Amino acid sequence: MISLGSVVQRLKPAFLGSSVHTCGLASCGRTRFGKWRGAVTLNDVWYCSANCVEAGLLEDLASEQNRRVSLHHHRLPLGLLLLEQERISASELDAAVQYRRLHPQERIGGALQKIAGVSQTLIAQTVAAQWGCPSVTSHKMPICREAQLPYEFLHEHSTAPMYWEPRGRVLLLGFLFRLDYVAMAAIERVLRCTVKPCILTEDLFRQVMLELSERNPRNAAIFPSRFKKDHRARIVRNYVEEIGAEEIRVGTGSCYQWIRLNQPRDMDLLFALPADAEPGVEI
Ligand SMILES: [Zn+2]
Repeated sequence: MISLGSVVQRLKPAFLGSSVHTCGLASCGRTRFGKWRGAVTLNDVWYCSANCVEAGLLEDLASEQNRRVSLHHHRLPLGLLLLEQERISASELDAAVQYRRLHPQERIGGALQKIAGVSQTLIAQTVAAQWGCPSVTSHKMPICREAQLPYEFLHEHSTAPMYWEPRGRVLLLGFLFRLDYVAMAAIERVLRCTVKPCILTEDLFRQVMLELSERNPRNAAIFPSRFKKDHRARIVRNYVEEIGAEEIRVGTGSCYQWIRLNQPRDMDLLFALPADAEPGVEI
């Protein structure tokens, strides 16, 4: 027997265009015409109801969590790079390494600033060379107001938006000390953009974050408790129904899972994740 769904799928490209949707939940598979009340799009996949999108979310949150693996990046140590460039001496590097033994919270760059008087700009330029990306050190760059990112997500991942190119949807994203590929992938997924990373000095990062904190914050709900994914999916569903959201986008950083609800009102939900979770571990 030929089902309505299969007939519609055949007709769709020729006659019906984008006004026909088939539910993204395989066990549902309903097909609907036009705008359908209660339908929600999750990362560009259409779901016919809150029940279906909650089930879809559960699958998505699990697969997102499993993707939360940073690419291993082999880099020459910062101190050796500075030594090789004759910016520091071998004895200064030894002293900085000793200093870090006594102050394990301090980074090698901070230790070298104190011991060898290395500037923040040189540290940022050398870290950028380590990661193969540009550095941005000028305080004259205008604040990037176009990219709407939740402040807490930026703060926890030590990253700040520096420039938004709307035509190509490219975001220049500044990092401190190291690139966070997991946070970059999360932002690309939620904003549907391409992220180009750069390294900032500590002073510039603090200045940008201060300016961002003084702007009108986005409407955001933060969940510091580490809920399991079925609990998170239920909370998201409740918010979707409460504000009548028509679109959900999910991005998983190293510290937060970021859920953006769009239309008619925008809202961000941030769920804390354990920093040391192994990929695939139930959290
Ligand atoms: Zn459905």
